[in-house]
Amino acid sequence: MAGARITRVVVRQPKLRYRLHRDFVERLERQTVRAVERRAKYLLMELSSGDRLLMHLGMSGSFHYYKSSRLEAHDHVIFEMSNGFIVAFNDPRRFGFMLLLAPADHATHRSLTRLGPEPLSQTFDAASLAKALARRKTSLKMALSDQRVVGGLGNIYVVEALHRARLSPNRAASTLVTANGTPRPALFDLVQAIRDVLREAIRRQYRAGDDNPFRVYDREGERCPRRGCPGTIRRIVQGGRSTYYCPACQR
Ligand SMILES: [Zn+2]
Repeated sequence: MAGARITRVVVRQPKLRYRLHRDFVERLERQTVRAVERRAKYLLMELSSGDRLLMHLGMSGSFHYYKSSRLEAHDHVIFEMSNGFIVAFNDPRRFGFMLLLAPADHATHRSLTRLGPEPLSQTFDAASLAKALARRKTSLKMALSDQRVVGGLGNIYVVEALHRARLSPNRAASTLVTANGTPRPALFDLVQAIRDVLREAIRRQYRAGDDNPFRVYDREGERCPRRGCPGTIRRIVQGGRSTYYCPACQR
């Protein structure tokens, strides 16, 4: 889409997580897409008008592109591009959304302010994570799920990273930081584990409906996958979300 002009927008279903903006089609048609970027869990499309389209895939959203029009069920918003591509936003559960931001709202929109560093960027390391966790009295699971601590880390990947790093989700976040505010050794392992689970997820391109590809997520009652560990995966609820962990090897 980047560099191409949007020649036509077809809205088949305006009710996504939020209803599409009243002038959604008008503000998109005839605009050139200057860039498409990702920040945390958001996709951002910069338009020649200065507007930005903020998008989120929700639980089941995805984009598909076609060279000719052959739309599928749950293709809710369709962008016809000047380069001949047809790009469709598909979302069976409709938890995804698209919001048009005027230039004045770019810097202040609540979705984009106070986001922590990108977990795969250079700015995310043990020292920066130690700074973010030092003040936290909450559990490690809750702290890592907070987008202000690290941007774009979802529930499943927090659970998977904690298992790899052998850290209990119940542990107080501040216990990974020394009194001087420097990272304890386990925090270096945690940073590596977070990077590893994300890189693997990107490589494998999980899709809704695949067999469970995770080591501990959604595996309550199963044997711990760590070699030699006699533990059984347990499920608890933290902040309304399911956590899966092995009480035997995660401390
Ligand atoms: Zn275990």
